[in-house]
Amino acid sequence: MDVNKLLAKLHADLPSENTGIVASYIPELAHAQRDKFGVHAVTIDQREFSFGDYEEGFSIQSIAKVLSLTMAYQRENKDLWKRVGVEPSGTPFNSLIQLEQDMGIPRNPMNNSGALVICDILLDYLADPKKDLLAFVQSLTGDETIYFNERVAASERETSDRNRALIEFMRSFGNIRNGTERLLDFYCSLCSIEMNCRQLSRTFLFLANDGVSLSGERIVSISMTKRLNAIMQLCGLYDEAGEFAFRVGLPGKSGVGGGIVALLPRDYCVAVWSPPLNKKGNSHFGMAFLEGFTSQVGESIF
Ligand code: GLN
Repeated sequence: MDVNKLLAKLHADLPSENTGIVASYIPELAHAQRDKFGVHAVTIDQREFSFGDYEEGFSIQSIAKVLSLTMAYQRENKDLWKRVGVEPSGTPFNSLIQLEQDMGIPRNPMNNSGALVICDILLDYLADPKKDLLAFVQSLTGDETIYFNERVAASERETSDRNRALIEFMRSFGNIRNGTERLLDFYCSLCSIEMNCRQLSRTFLFLANDGVSLSGERIVSISMTKRLNAIMQLCGLYDEAGEFAFRVGLPGKSGVGGGIVALLPRDYCVAVWSPPLNKKGNSHFGMAFLEGFTSQVGESIF
C-alpha cells in the first residue's frame, strides 16, 4: 500500500465545506487558520508517512494531558488511582457536574478536573515543574525544539475561570494541595505545548511500542502502557469517546487546538490536525479523516 497516496486521497475525500468552529474561548487559539490540515504517521519500525501541513506547529492543548499523566503514573504507580478515576465521564471536558457526587475525585485524568489533579500531584514531585515537564516531553523523541507557547499559556491563564472553579471545588474535598495560581500556571503551560503532526506522532509512539519511546528508552511498563491506552480509548475524546471508538476504533486523544493523536498498539501512531472543532470540542475533519484511515487500512483494535 502507498500510504502517502492514501493520506492525500483521504484528504481529498473530505467534504468541501468544514462545518466545525475554531476554538476561541482561549483567545489566542482563535488565530489558527481554519483551512490548515496536516497528518503524519510513524510505525514502530520508524517508517514515516505524511500529508499537508504536517510540519506546521499548533497548540496540542489537552493532548498533553496524556504526557503529564504518564509522568505522574511513573512516580505514583497504582496509588495514583486514589485521587483520580478511570471511568469514562460522558460529560464535556470542562464539566463540574459529577464532581460533587464523586466527592471531588475526577472521573478520569483526561478531562480538565482529572488533569488538574495530575498537575497537582506532579507539583509535589518535580523540583522545577515546567522545566522538568518539558525535558520529559522532549526526551521522548530527543527533539529539543518542542516548547511552551507562552502567548497561549498567558491567554488561557487570563480566561481560566472555569478551571479555577474546578480547582477550588476539588480543594473543598481535600483533593488539591497546591496554591491555585501555581497550579493553574503549570496546567496552562502543559496545555500550551506546541508541536507539529510529525513531532506529535513520534512523541506518542511509546504508547504503540509497549512503553518504549522512539529514543529507545523504557518510559512505562507493558502493563502501564495497556492502562494508559485503555484510558485514552474510554476517555480521550470526552463525551465523544464512544463515537470515536465506533468510527475510528483506536485509542486516541484530542485537543481544542484541533489535533488528534491515535495509535494502533504494536503497529503505528498517527497525528492529524485541522483546527475547526465539532460541538464536542474535537477536530471535525480529524475525526472524519481517521475514520476513513482505519476503514481503508482495514485495521483497528477491534
Ligand atoms: N487548555 C484547555 C482547557 O483547559 C484544554 C481543553 C481541551 O483541549 N479539550 O480548557
